[in-house]
Amino acid sequence: MTSYKELGLVNTREMFAKAVAGGYAIPAFNFNTLEQMQAIVQAAVETKSPVIMQVSKGARNYANGTILRYMAQGAVEYAKELGCANPQIVLHLDHGDSFELCKDCIDNGFSSVMIDGSALPYEENIALTKKVVEYAHAHDVTVEAELGVLAGVEDEVASEVSHYTKPEEVEDFSKRSGCDSLAISIGTSHGAYKFTPEQCTRDPKTGKLVPPPLAFDILHEIEKRLPGFPIVLHGSSSVPQEEVDTINAHGGKLPDAVGIPEEQLREASKSAVCKINIDSDSRLAMTAAIRKHFDEYPSHFDPRQYLKPARENMKKMYMHKIIDVLGSNDKL
Ligand SMILES: [Zn+2]
Repeated sequence: MTSYKELGLVNTREMFAKAVAGGYAIPAFNFNTLEQMQAIVQAAVETKSPVIMQVSKGARNYANGTILRYMAQGAVEYAKELGCANPQIVLHLDHGDSFELCKDCIDNGFSSVMIDGSALPYEENIALTKKVVEYAHAHDVTVEAELGVLAGVEDEVASEVSHYTKPEEVEDFSKRSGCDSLAISIGTSHGAYKFTPEQCTRDPKTGKLVPPPLAFDILHEIEKRLPGFPIVLHGSSSVPQEEVDTINAHGGKLPDAVGIPEEQLREASKSAVCKINIDSDSRLAMTAAIRKHFDEYPSHFDPRQYLKPARENMKKMYMHKIIDVLGSNDKL
């Protein structure tokens, strides 16, 4: 048993309370590699932002759970080395799908877990979430639950259709499950293809796809029913057009990739939404920099030569999200 407290990590309780009260959101960046971890820590330290480093089941399969745990511990020590006296870093399990997986993470240094029972019938979702909450809270670990279904594909999580969260269920669900935060579905979506061209309109000037707006009426109704309760948005990458263009200009093929416009995420950050999940944008920033580098320097074969610009490009993106979209800068 390794407690996250031994690793210098924190849970989300205090962080979320401050974010809800302060009208900003905490960035939740997924990571699988050393370069992503370094870029996340550098960005968080330089902007003085709390940060959630999250790991999906796919990331644990890819990088190994033990290694990821020590990387999170390394992130805390690295942040201190960079001059941050009191880093606020959460190690979070993204889309836990069973009690056993959540327990394994809690026993191995995670400070926060998500139990995603959103595909289950309502009462089963409550029962599973409650079981995880009881174990997690005994170890002072916070729990994110989900109500409603997001469309899109993310590692093992996939759904063709979305079902918006029903506001009339949120009070009963949060009270009976005991969860600390709630992921809702209001039109965000997993992956780099969040919407089909048929779901979008085209900007007559640029010809680019414009996605349908988020359901802010549902978000506001949920806020009214659960005042001050931390709300989470998944699938909230913006799929920056310049990164997609760079990828496509250097041999890639990502036609009609489309994300959530940043002005909508900026608006959501000011509400009870206190955690915003961003994964695809990091993948795009890394891939764009590597493709460009390979194209420009065909003789390079030392991974450091192309991973360095990849890391810098991700860091730039993370800092932009923190400062210009979520507003979590200068909070340490
Ligand atoms: Zn998700």
